[in-house]
Parts: sequence; structure tokens; C-alpha cells
Amino acid sequence: MQLSIISYPHPTLRIRSKPIRRVNKELRNIAAQMLDLMYEAEGVGLAANQVNLPIRIFVANPAGERGDGEELVLLNPELQMPKGNVTGQEGCLSLPGIYGQVKRPKSIRLSAFDIQGNPVDRVVDGFLARVIQHENDHLDGVMFFDRMTEEAKREIDDQLHELETVFESKQNTGGIANNEQLIAELDPWYEKYT
Ligand code: ZN
Repeated sequence: MQLSIISYPHPTLRIRSKPIRRVNKELRNIAAQMLDLMYEAEGVGLAANQVNLPIRIFVANPAGERGDGEELVLLNPELQMPKGNVTGQEGCLSLPGIYGQVKRPKSIRLSAFDIQGNPVDRVVDGFLARVIQHENDHLDGVMFFDRMTEEAKREIDDQLHELETVFESKQNTGGIANNEQLIAELDPWYEKYT
């Protein structure tokens, strides 16, 4: 099975992914592939929805380089106790070339499991807190521009519309399946992992 990164407005980016009930060799392989894809694309995080999987797992490394910084593989994350606010620039591997300012809590408490099944429970802040919140949003079908101010979003609206037009025209000419079919294709993953 070969994963690849899907781009906005693929409908899997808008679904709420389901908690993972089972970890197996294939899932460990999925996590490894997600890390490969993230580093290849020079990203700092990648969520399951972005590789067309409807399950709650994401990978991250705020340093963006293999062997550098802190590499995280997190399953069934839950974010609590948001504190403070900070505005910073964000981009997304599913929205190549599009960036915007997003205000988020400065620190959050993260509870999750790693790929070995060990519980993770820690307070994170700084850039890592931003990355984790961005990736956790993906698992809920939320894109970073949903959290931008109306004013800031107006500046990227043309770019978003262009991506929508390209995607829809591919669907109209049969190059990409329609949304209903794309969502139906996710069913086997629910059976396997949720
Ligand atoms: Zn993203």
C-alpha cells in the first residue's frame, strides 16, 4: 500500500476521523510512510486525513528534518487546558504555496498514545503546540484557514477558489471520482482500525 498526500478540497480533508482501536504491523508501516512523506515535502506535520485515511493518527517534527528535533507519532490525541493566545504563520502540505496568520492557544495539554501503545501526557507550548493543534484539527476535518480572520482569509480566497476549480474540473472529466465515491472508498479502513 502506497500512501500519497491529498490536496484541498479532497473530501477526506473534511471528515472527522475515528479513534484507532487496534495497532498492527500495517499501521506501523503507515506511520513510517507518513513520516517519509512529511520529510520529503519539507513539512513539520502530517495527519491521516491528508493521506486519505479516516483514522486518528498524525506525525510531526517541528524541526522538519529527519534525525533533528523531536519526531512524534501520535494516536488518538486529545488536547485540553488551552492557555494564552499567539498568532503565527501556518501553511499546510494539502494547500501547497498558501500561508496565513492563525491565532491559537499558546500552550495545551496533550494526551495521546505513541505507536508502541505507550500513553503520552504532557503540556506543550511554542511552535510544537502550534503544529500539534494544526494536525489535531485535520483529524476533525478542520483546515487552518477555518481559523483565520475574515480579513486575513480574503487574501487567500482566490488561491483556494483556484484549487477548488481544478479539483472540480478533474471530477467533471472523470480524472478524480466524485465526493460520494471518495468517501465510500474509506469504509475498509473503519473496519480495520476503528
Ligand atoms: Zn495541514
